[in-house]
Amino acid sequence: MNGSPPPPLVNVKEFLRPFLQGLAEEDLDELVQAAMVRSLPAGVDICREGEPGSTIYFIVQGRVEMVKRLDDDSERYLHDAGPGEIFGEMAIIQEEVRTATVRTTEPTTVLEIGREPFLTVLSRSPSLGLRILVRLTARLREADRQAIVELRRANEELTQALRRLKRLDRTKSDFIQVSAHELRTPVAALLGYAQMMQENPTVQRDPALRALAEGVVAGTRRLHRIFNSILDLSRVMTDGLHIRRSPVSIPVIFQGIHSQFERALEERDLTLELKGLKALPFCPADPDLLYKAFYHLVHNAIKYTPDGGRIRVTVRTLDVPDLGGECIEVAVEDTGIGIAPEDLDLIFEKFYRTGEVALHSSGTINFKGGGPGLGLAIAQGVVLAHGGRIWAESPGYDEETCPGSRFVVQLPLGRET
Ligand code: ADP
Repeated sequence: MNGSPPPPLVNVKEFLRPFLQGLAEEDLDELVQAAMVRSLPAGVDICREGEPGSTIYFIVQGRVEMVKRLDDDSERYLHDAGPGEIFGEMAIIQEEVRTATVRTTEPTTVLEIGREPFLTVLSRSPSLGLRILVRLTARLREADRQAIVELRRANEELTQALRRLKRLDRTKSDFIQVSAHELRTPVAALLGYAQMMQENPTVQRDPALRALAEGVVAGTRRLHRIFNSILDLSRVMTDGLHIRRSPVSIPVIFQGIHSQFERALEERDLTLELKGLKALPFCPADPDLLYKAFYHLVHNAIKYTPDGGRIRVTVRTLDVPDLGGECIEVAVEDTGIGIAPEDLDLIFEKFYRTGEVALHSSGTINFKGGGPGLGLAIAQGVVLAHGGRIWAESPGYDEETCPGSRFVVQLPLGRET
């Protein structure tokens, strides 16, 4: 004895008849001949997922559940079935392995019929085929309904999680913005005092004190710049950044940037060429934001190009159907160290920096001088807020051969073509 309950008396033919209505008497007899009664205690797998399907089961009494293995090896409950229901026919008809495990949840008696007799009778009886088809369709519909309910639930959970994340993200951005703002004010005052100290005749006369004062001024300036960049970034990353559009002259922007970097260019023996800027239409944009975006591109070109190199800014108009028509395209190209292909997209992430960069305070216009890794994120934020796009091109990264980089910005002119 293995502890399972004894099989109840079953009149197999009378039990099967309602299942197999319309079946010829001799076909019914053939199935009855092939049927075996099996009684099982609760918690037994009648058939397992992944096994070849060689038997169809009719539940006489008791209850079973269908479960499916998930990728993480846990089980997912599909549905359960009781007296009068059939299972196992799908794998036989499809000649596939079982797609679910069927387990008894209480003492259960089933009638088992092997694959061969079942298929033989099925091939002779269209009415049996039809009944099976009807049952399968009903099961598919039920599975569909369940899937939709679960999808809806998962969707609702995801929406809630997204809402929570957005709220947290906003709190974090607000915190960063308020902190940067609060810290910038005393740093600005500090910078003023440090500059006064630097210019003081006593300090000027003493080389050691002068060096100290220069260090304090450079460090404070750097801090001030970082706080400004953080504020710019949090501004451009805010949903619905407010853009005050006016007709902007790209040449005027670059003339401003050129004069801002004039000393650095001279010190580093770099040339900044502006090409194709004549007879250019005005660009409907926020002049301050656009200035910042191009400022960072030129600043980077200066930082990542060795002394004696060339930076070329080329501007043209062209039709870009993806951006809704005529656009202005600005390309900032340098003869610098270049960018590895795997970094071309990543460099636009905030705080992303490639390779080793110097992080000392005097490094901002030095070759490979450090930055906080915010410039390109700000530039991208500005360009996207204007409905444009920005990308980087480079044959690769090589500090010996300096293959150079090219940053391209396209901004829609808002004129249909
Ligand atoms: P950072 O403050 O570090 O310059 P950015 O966001 O402006 O931050 O740039 C991110 C990274 O992209 C830089 O650290 C640098 O590795 C790379 N990069 C940007 N511009 C250039 C360029 N013109 N040539 C080579 N690498 C560049």
